[in-house]
This record gives sequence, C-alpha cells and structure tokens, in this order.
Amino acid sequence: MGRLACLLAALLIAPAARAGFTVETLAPGVIAFVRTEPAGMMFDANNLAVIGEDAVLVVDSNATAASSREVIRALRAITRKPVRYLVNTHWHLDHFEGNAAWLEAYPGLEIVGHEATRGELAGVGARNRAGMLESGPGLVEALRRRVAEGRDREGRPLDAETKAAYASDADQAARYLEATRTVAFVPPTIEVRDRLTVHLGARSVDVRHPGPGHTRSDLVVWLPAERILATGDLVAAPVPLIGNTARPMDYAGTLERVLAFGALVIVPGHGPVMRDDAYPRRVRDLAAAIRDGVRAAVAAGATLEETRKRIDLTAFRDAFAGSSKLRGALFDLYVAQPAIEAAWRQAREAG
Ligand SMILES: [Zn+2]
Repeated sequence: MGRLACLLAALLIAPAARAGFTVETLAPGVIAFVRTEPAGMMFDANNLAVIGEDAVLVVDSNATAASSREVIRALRAITRKPVRYLVNTHWHLDHFEGNAAWLEAYPGLEIVGHEATRGELAGVGARNRAGMLESGPGLVEALRRRVAEGRDREGRPLDAETKAAYASDADQAARYLEATRTVAFVPPTIEVRDRLTVHLGARSVDVRHPGPGHTRSDLVVWLPAERILATGDLVAAPVPLIGNTARPMDYAGTLERVLAFGALVIVPGHGPVMRDDAYPRRVRDLAAAIRDGVRAAVAAGATLEETRKRIDLTAFRDAFAGSSKLRGALFDLYVAQPAIEAAWRQAREAG
C-alpha cells in the first residue's frame, strides 16, 4: 500500500481504535464488545450483550463510567430494547465501576451478582480502590517516565510492544483514577448462590457459579442454545489472572467444570473471543501444576520461599509468553508472583 493509502487507512480505523473495543456478533442478537487496548495491565473488561424479545442482558460493566457509556452508545446503535439485567462476573473493579453508568442509562436495571459480592465490595473492593488511589499516581508517573526515556526499571531499552502497553496503561490508569474518586459502588440487586436462569422471551441465559477460582465468587454466563460462554476472568488472555484474591487450589477444578459446558465460543474477561478451548485447557494445566506443587511443598512443611524455589513454571511462562518480553513480564506479575503465594496461604489454611 502507498503512503497516502496507508495514511487514509489509518484515519479510517482511528475512531474504532479510540473507542477501545470492537463489536463482534457471535450469533443473532449475541454481541461481544472486545477491548482493543494493547495487551498490558488489562485495565478494562470485555462485555457481552444478549438481546431477547423485549429486553437485553449484559455481562460485566467496565472500569469507568466513561468506558461504559461508549459501550452503551454502541449497543444503542444495535438495539433500542432496554437492558434489564447486568451480570457482574465478580467484584473486581474493572468489571464493576461502570455499573452506575449502566443504571443511569437504564433505570429499570437489575444487577445480578454472586451472594458474596456485596460483602466483597464493601471490604476488599473498598480496600483495593483505596490502594489504587494511593499508589496509582506513582504508577502513572513511572510508566510515563519509562515511555519518555525508552527504558525499563532496570535501565534496559523498551521494545515497541512494551512501550505501547506502558503508554496505554498510563492513560487508562490516569482516567481510572480521575473517575474512581467520585463513582458510586452500585451493588447487585439479585444475588446468585449456584445458579440463576433468566428467560428473555424465547431465549434462556444461565448464570452459574462454577466454584472459586479467579476470586471466591466467580460467575459465568452460559447460553445453552447458542453454546456461548462468558467466563469473566476465569479465562483471561494473553496471560491468566491468578492474583492475590484468587483461590489457586480450587482454580483447576473450577475450570474443569467450565470446560465441561462444551462451549463453542468463549468470551473471556480480557482478550479476544475464543472459538476452541485450547487456551482455557492450558490455564487449567497451569493451575493444576500450581495446586499440586504447592500441596506437596506444604505437606513437606516448606516455607513460602522454599515453595517458590520448588515450583518451576518456566514451561508455562514460555507457552503463554512465547518470545514476547511484555507477556513474560505480565506472566510474572499476574501469575508467578501472586499465585504461588495465594496457593501457599490457601493450602496452609486448609491443612
Ligand atoms: Zn478480575
């Protein structure tokens, strides 16, 4: 393509890139809104809209009201039917803080969440937000400085993928910090323990709690007729999210139940729509390796440091990161560091 054509193409795709998501029709009336920010800290979550006969069910809100409003605008261009149900797959703030914007746009909205979610929002959710408000400005500044200097924390040159991710993460974190100061937490109005079925006319939507994993109280949303599954962050790409609020000892078993749905299409909490289950199987294998390694270490009386030394996740790191330095760093940040510690604590609690 000539230079002018390239420039025109860039201008034409610019609005979509600014909006931060693509709109994908997975089946008639089943629409995924998939984030397009560079793979980085995964600040914002994917959404799924299921359009019924006279109302719509949406899965997950977003990190900010502004981000939710952009998704709402895109949804209104597709259907004028009201959103009657918003399902929060878990309490993490990037799936939750947009609730107020959805409620403002659709005043009759019912918010569906796990029965533990209200308590989690008031406790660990509020602490998380306070922590983010405290450490966030320093993070934004550090990321911007690294982009400007073109060097990482150790002074090594940044590659293009990492630089783009840092720049995008800094902008998203800055927007989040600005928005979160004033946003109201809007908790669920309908609570689910194990299962809830919503009938949108002829279309059925199952909301299920497959067990603890990414958090103690993850929900997935299953469309049995279409065999489409929205997993929340039980499945996230390009690296899994097994953080310090995860239940790593339960994760593999819970993912096994998720795989047993036999979904043809999987909408993860972050990352592109998946049309086979190779990726969640790899996450299941990783979670099983962490569980088994930590169980053996704790049974042998190992300390956390000894446990870290005993468990070698290199093959998994290579499988998820390939040759990407950024993905390797994300794997360390979102899996290797927090998951072994969270698993060790959970195994000791149980033992
Ligand atoms: Zn999450």
